[in-house]
Amino acid sequence: MPQVQTVQGAIDAQELGLVLVHEHVRFRDEAVAAQWPGRYDERLELDAALLAVGAAKERGVQTIVDPTAMFGGRDVHFMKRVADDTGVRIIACTGIYSYDYLPHYFENRDIDVMAEHFVADIEGGIQASGIRAAFLKCAADAAGVTEHVEKIHRAVARASVQTGAPIMAHSMPAVATGPRQVEIFEEEGVDLSRVQIAHCGDTDDLSYIEGLLAKGVYVGLDRYGLEMYLPIDKRNATAAELLRRGHAERLMISQDFCATIDWFPPEAAEVFEGEGSIRNWSMTLVFDEVVPALRELGVMDDATFQTIFVENPKRWLTA
Ligand SMILES: [Zn+2]
Repeated sequence: MPQVQTVQGAIDAQELGLVLVHEHVRFRDEAVAAQWPGRYDERLELDAALLAVGAAKERGVQTIVDPTAMFGGRDVHFMKRVADDTGVRIIACTGIYSYDYLPHYFENRDIDVMAEHFVADIEGGIQASGIRAAFLKCAADAAGVTEHVEKIHRAVARASVQTGAPIMAHSMPAVATGPRQVEIFEEEGVDLSRVQIAHCGDTDDLSYIEGLLAKGVYVGLDRYGLEMYLPIDKRNATAAELLRRGHAERLMISQDFCATIDWFPPEAAEVFEGEGSIRNWSMTLVFDEVVPALRELGVMDDATFQTIFVENPKRWLTA
């Protein structure tokens, strides 16, 4: 039986159960948080994480994959606290979440050295905690696949080839980053059946999504609730058509919910939470609204539900 690393240690893949494949128990800038810790309320952050994960648990969720990497404030101790308190397993990653910026530290070291850092998190453990990363994370966004973004992708790819760890890549369909991201992984010899291109659900362009699926990668329909990128009805219509076309075994459904996120000051909360920007964004929206809607459309029977929320995450993590 293949094993999967969680923040509480290795488990049999069979134990993963019902998985939310892309959620964040906390998202914040680690440099700001390290320099001005007084600006953050750890108690409030923990309470919000426990509330969100607890609600997911009530819907049957047993495992959460949390792709918070460098620059998202990855904190495996915080994750473990949430896992211990809720009884929901959390799976951590290694990698760098940057749309372009790269510290001089990595700018002046080569790809293989960057890859060594990731491998150490996977094989040895993160920040001397003994907690091991189970997958790799990288990102491309509005700036496209810049030189720095490409460097991170190649390092992630090499760490995947070396360790067998799967990859999750944040993408931006609006500027079509996905095909280039997949191309880099392919050039580096990554097994594309272990790659997940996140945020494909931000578009309803089926030919774009099917172009990626044709390469054998998983695609994430994983931002349910983020209406500013695509409203839920259009996300559901896209998901339904992909299911009708037989892609169930390559779809990941999640919310990319952040129990707390420091990107906006409290007084600007309406920017983020204003009319039309998010709707019922939470760690339970896919169970409360999406699955029922897809069942209504006749594309989500029990077997399909099992494929998407149990089998696909397990296969991606262990195949
Ligand atoms: Zn995310």
